[in-house]
Amino acid sequence: MNFLQRSRPASLKHEIMADRNRKGPRNVGGKYYVDDTCIDCDLCREIALETFKRDEETGTSYVHRQPETQEEIVLADEAARSCPTETIGKDGEE
Ligand code: SF4
Repeated sequence: MNFLQRSRPASLKHEIMADRNRKGPRNVGGKYYVDDTCIDCDLCREIALETFKRDEETGTSYVHRQPETQEEIVLADEAARSCPTETIGKDGEE
């Protein structure tokens, strides 16, 4: 089973709590972003490399390209759900 096939128990689902007012300056504009609470665990980059990259100066992730295809969106959503610090938001500007 890969990460696309995993599902979370309903009890573990929750709203993403990232704060768009705290998003890092390297994020490209758009719906998805990473705020300043990233702990550099690398998970989002492993799941959605097309969307997330590491800022080597700050040691944090950022959105370098907004997901466009359905597969990229699924992966970006999976990354957001998997982020241990709820750092990835999807309520940025459209
Ligand atoms: S999954 Fe969350 S904490 Fe981990 S690197 Fe990505 S944004 Fe940072």
